[in-house]
Amino acid sequence: MNRSGATLTPVRAIEATELIALDVFNTGAHQVTLGDVERYLRQLRGHVPDCGCDRCEAAAMVRADGVLMIVRAWQRQLAATRVRALR
Ligand SMILES: [Zn+2]
Repeated sequence: MNRSGATLTPVRAIEATELIALDVFNTGAHQVTLGDVERYLRQLRGHVPDCGCDRCEAAAMVRADGVLMIVRAWQRQLAATRVRALR
């Protein structure tokens, strides 16, 4: 089996997507739109090339719709947890 790192990129892309999704999720906005995610990505992609904050590096790897999907999944999970806690 070839383990030359061919599987590395998808994993990093997923981690990058989760990193960006976490930032968006932590804003606490209830209705996150694709436009919100795109605006945040544009902001991060405007960093200087050797910025080194990880966020802009991650932003270069992710897709806005992938980020939005994760944020919405987390919001659904959080809502479900709250409903259970109220019972
Ligand atoms: Zn940066």
